[in-house]
Amino acid sequence: MPANPVTIARDLIRCRSVTPAEGGALALLEATLADAGFTVERVTFSEPGLADVQNLYARIGSSPPHFAFAGHTDVVPPGDEAKWTYPPFGADIADGVLYGRGAVDMKGAVACAVAAALDYLADKASAQKGSISFLITGDEEGVAVNGTVKLLQWAAVRGERFDHCILGEPTNPAALGEMVKIGRRGSLNGTLVVTD
Ligand SMILES: [Zn+2]
Repeated sequence: MPANPVTIARDLIRCRSVTPAEGGALALLEATLADAGFTVERVTFSEPGLADVQNLYARIGSSPPHFAFAGHTDVVPPGDEAKWTYPPFGADIADGVLYGRGAVDMKGAVACAVAAALDYLADKASAQKGSISFLITGDEEGVAVNGTVKLLQWAAVRGERFDHCILGEPTNPAALGEMVKIGRRGSLNGTLVVTD
């Protein structure tokens, strides 16, 4: 049976992972990915004066090419929960729409990545080539000093090399491909030449 990204997304949304709290979200991913055969490591980073933040690195396979999914499970605070039409951590579905803090940014995308990986491994386990990784931080929505940058440095020290990466941040409000971003709160200038 294929993995259900909606179920995974709802389970993630129900975790109160308001940055920098882990809120059970990384534990959920750890259990799910470990079940599928991933080697999962939880890594906590610290910085003086700031809360410690948990991160997760999971990998299956040991050979290249090495494909990574990256993302975050922390969310911004919900504000006054009484003002929400549906509870921010309830993961309600109404008229085919999933409601909850982080449904878009970006537990929905993390859930899709996990489901895709599980389906791939279930379908092609016998012919699996290369490696799949998850680089998931709990420190994106806050000051973000104990997150992806440190996780990448940590991975580099261990000799991890990534050939490809997909990060499902919701950056395109209206249509897929309308916006390209590099890094976090950064910018990219480029020249696009179209020839016929
Ligand atoms: Zn995000």
